[in-house]
Amino acid sequence: MSDKTILILGGGIGGLVAANELRRRVPPEHRVVLVEKNTRHAFAPSFLWLMTGDRKPEQISREVRQLVRPGVQIVTAQAETIDLNNRRVQTNAQELGYDYLVVALGAELVPETIPGLSETAETFYTFDGAQKLRDTLQTFRGGTVAVVVSALPYKCPGAPHEGAMLIADTLRRRGLSAQVDVHLFTPEPQPMPVAGPALGDAVKQMLTKQGIHFHPLHKLNAVNPQTRELVFENKDSFKYDLLVAIPPHRGAPILRAAGLTNEAGWVPVNRATMATSFENVYAIGDATMIPIPGRWKPDVPLVLPKAGVFAHAQAEVVAQRIAAELAAHAPTAEFPGMGYCMLEAGASTAGFAFGNFFAEPAPQVELRMVGGLWHIGKIMFEQWWLAPYGLKRDALAMGLELGSKGLRIPYLIPR
Ligand SMILES: Cc1cc2nc3c(=O)[nH]c(=O)nc-3n(C[C@H](O)[C@H](O)[C@H](O)COP(=O)(O)OP(=O)(O)OC[C@H]3O[C@@H](n4cnc5c(N)ncnc54)[C@H](O)[C@@H]3O)c2cc1C
Repeated sequence: MSDKTILILGGGIGGLVAANELRRRVPPEHRVVLVEKNTRHAFAPSFLWLMTGDRKPEQISREVRQLVRPGVQIVTAQAETIDLNNRRVQTNAQELGYDYLVVALGAELVPETIPGLSETAETFYTFDGAQKLRDTLQTFRGGTVAVVVSALPYKCPGAPHEGAMLIADTLRRRGLSAQVDVHLFTPEPQPMPVAGPALGDAVKQMLTKQGIHFHPLHKLNAVNPQTRELVFENKDSFKYDLLVAIPPHRGAPILRAAGLTNEAGWVPVNRATMATSFENVYAIGDATMIPIPGRWKPDVPLVLPKAGVFAHAQAEVVAQRIAAELAAHAPTAEFPGMGYCMLEAGASTAGFAFGNFFAEPAPQVELRMVGGLWHIGKIMFEQWWLAPYGLKRDALAMGLELGSKGLRIPYLIPR
């Protein structure tokens, strides 16, 4: 087979794993090219610790090239258009051809789509936002904190709950417990609805224990920055002193322009292979929308949450399938829908949610008790993710592998 070019768009969690796995698996005559607009990668799960002051910005970010296996060609550029017919991508620096395309462009945050939100809300959903919020929390004198999931879908179903608990914990550590009320609003009927009612109840208990007031079924229509009021659909408005938002998300506009998305702007894929309806074009991670078994209401299908753990596993599947094809073998790797999440609860503790999101008739996800072990597990995973290629990364992977065997969760093992 002649030399091929595998082009990966987006060097976040999914794109980095895809690039590294492909480079590991395909012979050197084939080119693996990673297009990423930023030179530095920031590890999003650690934005929460940036917000609490437990991490400095340089501790949770790395140069993209440090995280990439030798032999991957990095193009630091913004992808601007995709021509699926001619298999070409135009970036702001150059035009690139491909034989295989892996789309890993994630989701964009668009706070400006809700009136008043961008003028007044803080957020821990971005690198810069988490640092600003850290400073705000250090000087906050007390009052009502509203943490608001402003629209669906959003990435990491656990993060708003973790954020609310860590904000409460940070203010408690500042001695402000008596002067602060933390409220969490979401349009969803319960915490992490995709994982079913039992898990939702368990997370609600975690929130209650941390003193968080949980308000389900609250759809945000607008924010009034002058009166500091949240305006909800068919619910009373709510006054806040500090507003922390999970901003609305949308798919990358270039994917819609290329004709790769559904009406909502997300890329439909085969849930096992991550193939799109275009030959040799795959999509992974937050950019995709994957319906899964189970329903809350007859007219509301469930979709796989947007999470790094899924982007990671999907990237491995795509890399294995492309490598198999290039070796003239039938691809067999499939994404099984397994996932997990360490839910930070404050005071160096975390819970652990894990399970099979493709289980029938509905996802089977459970929550292990809150304790220090899962918090340490989250730190180990962070350290593995941010370690440059080499011995340190291998040693951390071995530690995680041993730990995960003890916990009987083999799909935790990173490469
Ligand atoms: C606060 C927070 C906590 C989280 N905690 C967890 C957790 O504990 N566990 C978990 O599993 N998930 C967690 N997540 C979610 C996780 O970070 C995302 O689901 C994951 O990053 C998705 O990976 P991705 O590769 O699809 O997208 P991303 O990682 O967002 O990567 C997309 C990349 O594409 C690049 N890009 C975008 N457009 C272009 C363009 N036009 N040209 C070139 N490059 C472009 C971006 O710069 C980015 O690097 C958390 C997220 C947040 C915000």
